[in-house]
Amino acid sequence: MADLPPKKGDPEWEEWAEDILDSTEFDTDLGKRISKDALRIAEGELSKAEFHERYSDEMKAEFGVDERPTEPAPETDTAMPRVPGDRNQTRRNVLKAMGGAAAAVGLAGCVGASADDGSETGGNPEPDTQLGMAIDTERCIACLQCSEACKEENNTDIGVHWPYVFRYEDEHAGENREDFLTRHCQHCSEPSCTYVCPTQARYRRTEDGLVLTDYDTCVGCKYCQVACPYGVNYLGKDEPNEVVGNEFDGDRVGRDGRTVGGNPPKGVMGKCTFCVHRQDSDDEELQGTTACEQACPVDAIHFGDMKDRDSDPREHLREKEASNQYKLLDEVGNEPNIVYIGKRPSKDAEPVQGPVSYEQLNMRDGNYDYVGAPEDAAAESEEGDAA
Ligand code: SF4
Ligand code: SF4
Repeated sequence: MADLPPKKGDPEWEEWAEDILDSTEFDTDLGKRISKDALRIAEGELSKAEFHERYSDEMKAEFGVDERPTEPAPETDTAMPRVPGDRNQTRRNVLKAMGGAAAAVGLAGCVGASADDGSETGGNPEPDTQLGMAIDTERCIACLQCSEACKEENNTDIGVHWPYVFRYEDEHAGENREDFLTRHCQHCSEPSCTYVCPTQARYRRTEDGLVLTDYDTCVGCKYCQVACPYGVNYLGKDEPNEVVGNEFDGDRVGRDGRTVGGNPPKGVMGKCTFCVHRQDSDDEELQGTTACEQACPVDAIHFGDMKDRDSDPREHLREKEASNQYKLLDEVGNEPNIVYIGKRPSKDAEPVQGPVSYEQLNMRDGNYDYVGAPEDAAAESEEGDAA
């Protein structure tokens, strides 16, 4: 089963990672090694302290700073259901010119609004609220309305899909079915993307567990893209970007003072924000909603606090408790915060077009074909496991 991103142990992983990292001016070899080891943390093979020490000197030499967290994250709360461009050059020069210690102070200043919340310095303190989703693939009709609504809301480039709807045919174990799976950033509780970010532009927000990118401090090294097993990161493209909707009209500055909303500028990394500008809005009607959830005509997307048993996603998971429930690539260990309802795609699933194509909606298809389940996960799915 296809395709991207390859798993870290796969022979294609090296080439895939090099293709991404070679397009930046930063050290490709360092990016590969640190990303692989970040995934080893998620798998429980390496401690965060060892990881930090191993790369500290190299990261400082390459970026002039090393803002990666040093402390281990506290135990995860079990309330959660168990289931490139000129900008790069400028930023690099600024970092180098500032020098190691001075740069560290400068960047700490940039992120100072949230400096005492632990999100930059103390690992990933466990938030009281964990925003997430239940996505009901049994209801999804692959109309692509979620993807289109996101694009209009966040003004992302035309080939970029923060929610990407995989449409696939699965001929496995004597069964032939056509099915759909919508993949967002999973806003992981153990986000390997944050472990490799030299500036902690990529961080997990303490109060609600959102994993965000601070557009003011991202240097566009793409290390987070390679360290993410889900293939959900897209670097902001050349301007003018090709957009479907109007200019982003939400507030780009989040409640922690960091610039996190809407589409990223050129050369800066972006991904689904769970519509952070809505969560941080003064408008109570917007809080607790995302554009994709509201656009879905069959109510397949349920967004809310995964730690609140009365939240919409938790209620929906209870309603569908007789159905199979699973988390995507759960075996990787990133602790994703999206729970899927329905049959897990098998290793034999193959991408198909339709029923609606991205082109029909004036959107180009994304770069990624599919995130496949490993054989053992597919087997579990057949047995009707509930996460
Ligand atoms: S899905 Fe990828 S980008 Fe999103 S939080 Fe997890 S590791 Fe980070
Ligand atoms: S958020 Fe920006 S600076 Fe941090 S790892 Fe990703 S591309 Fe590099």
